[in-house]
Amino acid sequence: MKIVLKNLTKKFPNRNKKQGGDVIAVNNFDFEIPDGKLVGLLGPSGCGKSTTLNLISGLEKPTEGKIFFGEDDVTKLPAQQRGVGLVFQSYALYPHLTVFKNIRFPLENLKGEDKLSKEEMEKRVKEAASLVQIDELLDRKPSELSGGQQQRVAIARALVKAPRVLLLDEPLSNLDARLRLQTREEIRRIQRKTDITTIFVTHDQDEAMSICDLIVVMKSGEMMQMGRPQDVYDDPVNLFVAKFLGTPPINVFEGKIENGGLFIGDDRVLDVKTDTSGTKNVYVAVRPEGFIIDDNGPLKCELGRLEVMGRDVSIVSKHASLISESGTIRSIVNSDNTVDLSLSHVNFSLKPHKVFAFDKETEERIRFIDG
Ligand code: ADP
Ligand code: MG
Repeated sequence: MKIVLKNLTKKFPNRNKKQGGDVIAVNNFDFEIPDGKLVGLLGPSGCGKSTTLNLISGLEKPTEGKIFFGEDDVTKLPAQQRGVGLVFQSYALYPHLTVFKNIRFPLENLKGEDKLSKEEMEKRVKEAASLVQIDELLDRKPSELSGGQQQRVAIARALVKAPRVLLLDEPLSNLDARLRLQTREEIRRIQRKTDITTIFVTHDQDEAMSICDLIVVMKSGEMMQMGRPQDVYDDPVNLFVAKFLGTPPINVFEGKIENGGLFIGDDRVLDVKTDTSGTKNVYVAVRPEGFIIDDNGPLKCELGRLEVMGRDVSIVSKHASLISESGTIRSIVNSDNTVDLSLSHVNFSLKPHKVFAFDKETEERIRFIDG
């Protein structure tokens, strides 16, 4: 089931009376979530991810705009009739019910022609439990399960009604690091197996990048960019998106474009063609993997230390024009590269496709023209 958002907007009255005005939680969203894909809504806390999900599920009513499931306009359809399965960060299981009864719960209230026999319900519960691999746990109470197992029960409960759409709101946030990794792979597996259109909300770029077919990067109720994770990483439309994706984060410098050159401070790091004229002040952002150690390289940095992490070597260095919060440049080079630690400096040349320029005022990307 594809989901189409048309000029979707949600405003909340501002609780802070002194500020006045509305909070625009979701501003004019206009995009399509393709059928059968796992799509990540990604952005910092407060950017409108949960509100978007709640609008799609019907828990919130939009201020303006429409929502379509396939060709059906569901904007006015009550939540229960939309056929969505919901999973939240807090698993919201019923503590006094067994796993079996928790999963069966949504089936018990089905009325009319949807009403199921006891045997049919049991069959469905077992199928859902088997899908998330908790067959052995059906007699337990939630308190007898680990966090990861509880989250699987919540997913089974969302799947048992065979929803048209599965909505997951930060489903991994309550799990420890190891379980988070495991459970995100589970979500990927279950989505592939069921082919249900799934929207996965997270503030963790690593999580979204690793399992989603598509990501939607959001900031303050605005949709910034949508695309395949690698495409968005390789081709960010603005500084926010460039900074939000990637670990270690992208390195941002003060720079300029002048006389066909891209400068970081006074270092002319690349020859570039743009449609700007004169001197243009920019932010220059370089991915950690975009640095090449090169004695004759144009970017002249003060050498800090080396960090060896398995096959990668991270060089920590400094440059006067760096404005990243960390205060140091993080560059990852192949461990075959050596750097003379007795020296106080290190020079780099840069891989052109790992370097982006952004307008200093608008923070929008300034594209280099090929050739
Ligand atoms: P996220 O899930 O990305 O953290 P939310 O969708 O929860 O963000 O919130 C987006 C914005 O809308 C925030 O500024 C939040 O304070 C505001 N907001 C969310 N729900 C309400 C509400 N019921 N009443 C007023 N403001 C709300
Ligand atoms: Mg939220």
